Order: sequence, then structure tokens, then C-alpha cells
Amino acid sequence: MQIIKGTKVITVAQAADLAAIKEAGAIIRRGGLVAFPTETVYGLGGNALDPEAAAKIYAAKGRPSDNPLIVHVARPEEIEDLVADIPMVAEKLIEHFWPGPLTLVFPAANKVPRKTTGGLDTVAIRMPAHPVALAFIEASAYPIAGPSANLSGRPSPTTAQHVIADLAGRIDMIIDSGHTGVGVESTVLDVTVNPPQVLRPGGLTLEQLRQVVPTITVDPTTVQDTPPEIGRVRAPGMKYKHYAPKAEVLVVEGQPENITAKICELYDAYVSCGRRVAIMATAETAPSYKERRVAIVGTRANLGSVAANLFDQLRRFDASDVEGVLAEGVDMVGLGLAVMNRLRKAAGYRIIKA
Ligand code: AMP
Ligand code: MG
Repeated sequence: MQIIKGTKVITVAQAADLAAIKEAGAIIRRGGLVAFPTETVYGLGGNALDPEAAAKIYAAKGRPSDNPLIVHVARPEEIEDLVADIPMVAEKLIEHFWPGPLTLVFPAANKVPRKTTGGLDTVAIRMPAHPVALAFIEASAYPIAGPSANLSGRPSPTTAQHVIADLAGRIDMIIDSGHTGVGVESTVLDVTVNPPQVLRPGGLTLEQLRQVVPTITVDPTTVQDTPPEIGRVRAPGMKYKHYAPKAEVLVVEGQPENITAKICELYDAYVSCGRRVAIMATAETAPSYKERRVAIVGTRANLGSVAANLFDQLRRFDASDVEGVLAEGVDMVGLGLAVMNRLRKAAGYRIIKA
């Protein structure tokens, strides 16, 4: 155990570490905040039924209070208390995909504070597939409101070190269980509309969802390559500037050969102006850049590896002297859909088609 700026940091390797998990649960019952690991990214947990805890979460993150919080449960039955209706399609999806990176948006029961839902009459709920997260939720004896445990506008945290960098001194405890696996946030699916609609692409792919419910649609603002008009975005969080690293990011999209040629050209032009730039590449394309400064984020053959490392890599650029990042686009299939959604936002939609 360590205390950093007043925040307790405990390492919990397994759900069986009862003393630590009980302590985290007790903090939640007292109205405090605990950052916890999930399979997607670290969450910032507070009692979802306590409007004051929700207010503390918004304050700790510096998050606009109309951006709703996802409620985390340890068992599917817990949703019965939190929602006004469970559409049949939701039951089917829960059976297939919970626990896992799928958040479902339901009509909210009255007992869910409107502070937690950002003022909406709907509530977003998921059951994470992480033993420590589940044990922590059980120990707290409340559903846990848990947005990503980063300062608003920074890349989501995939290690406890990221959480410490953003939130030490602002919350009561951080549970460190190492790297998260998926690396991008959950898929948010609205089941209050028919057919259900993806409001945010994420760790559960559209292809996986459509195997169970073929009619599922996608909010077009989440996959477009221009900044979404605020009035059209359906997940309130998607309208805010997000995942913004300090370095200016430019995404180059197209066929891999065209991407590498364009990035070499841009890189050399920047360097000749005296700018410190780096390339965010994949293992397959990295050799094309020769002596240029390259960070490999993952492989094109396994876009899950890109998802897993994306936020960590963006934070590494932040910690370096790099002023500009030339990032390769990837195919918008599988986890590539979530990766490109995050990357385009990180770039503020500065996109070049190669
Ligand atoms: P984060 O907490 O950082 O993972 O972000 C949660 C995402 O889920 C944001 O984009 C929210 O806008 C979205 N979300 C949460 N609750 C709802 C809801 N009731 N309706 C629509 N989107 C929601
Ligand atoms: Mg977030």
C-alpha cells in the first residue's frame, strides 16, 4: 500500500484479496470514490444511488455534469431495481455478452438519481468481466457509477499509473490490478429504440453484436470522419473533446502503402521546419519509415492489439518531447471501429486521406 497525495493506492492481484476489497467497498458506502480495474479501462467508482457521490465524480474528473455515468453491476439481476423496463432484446444480449464490454441504455427507474444519468430519464448499465471489479461491486453492496478514471479530456487510463497521474489527490483509493486487457471503453448500445442502436463503438464489436441481433444500427456520428454536429450526437459524452493528447495528432487514412508514403512526406516536411514529430505505426508498416522516429502501437493482423495499446501510447507521446504525432489509420472493422472513433477524436478530426 502506498499513499500518493492523500490517495491510497493498493495492489490487488486477485478477487480473493478480501481485506483490500472490503476496504474499497467501505469507502463507497461512506460516499467516497475508488478507481477500479475493469477489462476495458480503469473506472472511477462511486455509489450510483447517491447523488452526492455522483457530484464528487464529476468534480474529480472535471467532467461536465450533463455527461451521464455508466452504472456497473455485479450480477444481471441487479438491473431490475435500476430500470423501468427490460426490453426482450436486452435480455438476449445480456445472456450472450455479460459480463463483458457491452453497456446497455435502459429507461431509468425513479430510484436512480438524475445526477448519475446526467439529467436523462435513461440509465446506462453494464456488468464488467473483471474478477476484481465484480468483487469490489459486491463488497460495496451498491451499484457503482463508473466513468473512465481520467481527467476529462485526457486519454482513458489502462494502467493504475495513468489513474495516479490524473486523479491522485482527488479520490480516496486506487485499486491497481495491472494493465487492462481490452484497452478501449465499452460499446454503448441503446435498447430503448427498435432496432437497438450503437451510441459508442467499443470493446464489443458490431460484428459480434449483429451475430445475435442482426438489425442493430450505428449512430452515424460515431463513424464519420468530420466533427459531429453537437445536436446530432446521441451519447452525450461523444460531443465533448475527448482523448486529447498534448501533442497535435494527425491521422492519415487509406491503403497501408499510401499511408506510409504520405506519412514519410509529411514527417520530412515537419522535420525540415524543425518540428519534433513521431509516427504511430503498426508492426507491419513500421519498416517503411526507416530511420524516422516510430512507435509501434500494435498489428494490423490483430486490431485488438492496437485497441489495447492506443491510450497508453497517446499518453507516452504526452510524456515525451514530441510536438506532433502522425498516426496511421486502420480498417474500420472489428475493434478497428472503436480505435478509429477514438483516434479521430484524439486528432480533433485532423484527417488526411492518402
Ligand atoms: P465514460 O463514462 O467515460 O466511459 O463514458 C460513458 C459514455 O456513455 C459517454 O459517452 C456517455 O455519454 C454514454 N452514456 C452514459 N449514459 C448514457 C445514457 N443514459 N444515454 C446515452 N448515453 C449514455
Ligand atoms: Mg471517458
